[in-house]
Amino acid sequence: MPVSHPAGAGQRPRAAARPPLHLADLDPPGRRGAAERLGQPGFRGDQLSRHYFGRLTDDPGDMTDVPAAARGPLAEALLPRLLTAQQELSCDDGQTRKTLWRALDGSYVESVLMRYPGRVTMCVSSQAGCGMACPFCATGQAGLTRNLSAAEIVAQVVAGARALARGEVAGGRGRVSNVVFMGMGEPLANYTRVLAAVRRITDPVPDGLGISRRAVTISTVGLVPAIGRLAGEGLPVRLAVSLHAPDDALRDQLVPVNRRWPVAEVLDAAWGYAAAAGRRVSIEYALIRDVNDQAWRAEALAGLLEGHLAHVNLIPLNPTPGSRWTASEPGVMREFEERLARRGIPVTIRDTRGRQIDGACGQLAAAGRGGPVHIS
Ligand code: SAH
Repeated sequence: MPVSHPAGAGQRPRAAARPPLHLADLDPPGRRGAAERLGQPGFRGDQLSRHYFGRLTDDPGDMTDVPAAARGPLAEALLPRLLTAQQELSCDDGQTRKTLWRALDGSYVESVLMRYPGRVTMCVSSQAGCGMACPFCATGQAGLTRNLSAAEIVAQVVAGARALARGEVAGGRGRVSNVVFMGMGEPLANYTRVLAAVRRITDPVPDGLGISRRAVTISTVGLVPAIGRLAGEGLPVRLAVSLHAPDDALRDQLVPVNRRWPVAEVLDAAWGYAAAAGRRVSIEYALIRDVNDQAWRAEALAGLLEGHLAHVNLIPLNPTPGSRWTASEPGVMREFEERLARRGIPVTIRDTRGRQIDGACGQLAAAGRGGPVHIS
């Protein structure tokens, strides 16, 4: 079983080109300062923000409130195109779309837009690859390439918001209502940039995209110090913890970073977060046939969660290339759910989207590196 050195605070990606600075890496005073360094009045930073976050455009031709001579240089310096769509795959009648993005250094990442009645969720990547090496997750198999910049994360949400605003997604015009950090990467291993991205995503227009902070979910393997740090931010985002096993013996195998921060410490940090944020923590549990789906593990899980602010999300394991594991039988899944429910633990089975396009949880591997194509 591939086991990485426990990563986290000390994790450092291999040397890779750093993406150029972008408006969305900066807070509003930073943007004004950047405009001034370009010889422009500071308020040009606010104007560009309104175009990017409010009107969802980075095309200088749209910026009629900026003097024509200044538009090109400002856009070139502060709105570089960080990601180019290489491939778009859709399923669920176009209500689920996975985009493969190519960054300027040639790294690939993926994002997934999922439209449901009354909400649209963008699932975004926080790193190119991932260093956590969970053996059931496709992203974990390739290792970490590099951290994404805040602006590269925000660009994935902006692209979804733009497609919805232009009516390009089946179901008519719409808005992104939820953002989940459940794409490629371990968000808390890229803490500073992910937090900056969360601020851009949730700051009101024109400083940011104006998405509710409560509608943002950060999903983690359980990097305990980073969970503690997040609890101190005063940001009521939802925390999801990828638990997948109630016992250290199995979790050491499924989530190798458990060897550094075992179940009890992860859950302590989660309860600290729940108290600080005043919200339930999501406990993610991928049900893997004959691996973690036994009745005794359901009871052990219930024992760990009883009396705490938790909600369990059961995820039928999605197939990944080369994996010997498969999803639990439906009957076993129902029994696992019922055992938790009987003990008073709020539990749901996740409606898995995007399996046909390898866009479901754990399937993002940035594999299809062909030219730009569109398959629906
Ligand atoms: N690194 C973060 C976020 C990315 S994964 C984390 O681990 O939480 C988002 C969720 O999908 C996690 O709960 C992850 O464990 C789960 N997942 C990964 N591979 C999966 C698979 N093959 N089937 C189902 N869920 C999977």
